[in-house]
Amino acid sequence: MDRYCVMGNPVEHSKSPWIHARFAELTGQRLEYGRQLVPLDGFAEGVRAFRAAGGKGCNVTVPFKFEAARLAEFASQRVRLAGACNTLRFEADGIHGENTDGIGLVADLQRNAGVSLGGRDLLLLGAGGAAAGGLGPPLEARPRRIVGASRTLDKAQALVQSHAMLANDTYADLQPSALHAVRGRFDVVINATASSMAGAAVPVEASVLKPGALACDLMYGPAAEGFLLWAREHGATGRDGLGMVVEQAAEAFQFWRGVRPPSAQVLAELRRELAK
Ligand code: NAP
Repeated sequence: MDRYCVMGNPVEHSKSPWIHARFAELTGQRLEYGRQLVPLDGFAEGVRAFRAAGGKGCNVTVPFKFEAARLAEFASQRVRLAGACNTLRFEADGIHGENTDGIGLVADLQRNAGVSLGGRDLLLLGAGGAAAGGLGPPLEARPRRIVGASRTLDKAQALVQSHAMLANDTYADLQPSALHAVRGRFDVVINATASSMAGAAVPVEASVLKPGALACDLMYGPAAEGFLLWAREHGATGRDGLGMVVEQAAEAFQFWRGVRPPSAQVLAELRRELAK
């Protein structure tokens, strides 16, 4: 049976084994998918050992996404743009890398939440790994404007600068901002900071929300509840990051197996499973 895994540190929280097992069942693919806890200084060795033992590919989670981008011998354009990689596929000619985080986010917002990003005003909070992977695909959806805001202005400026050519190609107005200095109102607000994970307050004023805006936190579970409440209290529709988790996994599954799994069904099943 073909073997895959998710590598990270920590990794025990990952829902990927559950999701990929269900994808395999529903598409009739024969594969095994496990978790690999990798020492902080042992990512490249972990990948080498898994590949040598017959592994076909892996997902990569914190804190190894940047290292994975450097390890990929054939990096997709999305990986090169983000400088981060969450999916590796082992081929005879070398290691192929893809970043499915941003495509998964856009799939969840557009397909599952039913909010088209084309022509809209977006606010992306954060400038870490999730924001780096999560800026390119929303730009490809041709919004009118994206403001990338971080508590460290330099980091927002660097992220925006690295995507300037794509913004130019898609005619989007892409601007950096410090979190406290965000001006204007937005149709879609994406919290890609670690604020919810840290139990901190929503890092931006509610005045950024247009009435009826979609406010999405990339976190899910109890840690996202404060953000979802904030969205509801200010007239927005709140969404957590579980849909992105399932959709980025579906993109990875397709990258490995060439088969598109029924992600909306698996998302509904996972929500029921987590509610038990
Ligand atoms: P990261 O690389 O560590 O980046 C964290 C970012 O959050 C940085 O920009 C940091 O700013 C900022 N930040 C941290 N605490 C903050 C606070 N209290 N207020 C404002 N900004 C704060 O982490 P990451 O990998 O990007 O992950 C970010 C979040 O996305 C996490 O909650 C993670 O669980 C989630 N995520 C979800 C998915 C999914 O599929 N749903 C995928 C990836 C990540 P500084 O640089 O100034 O410190």
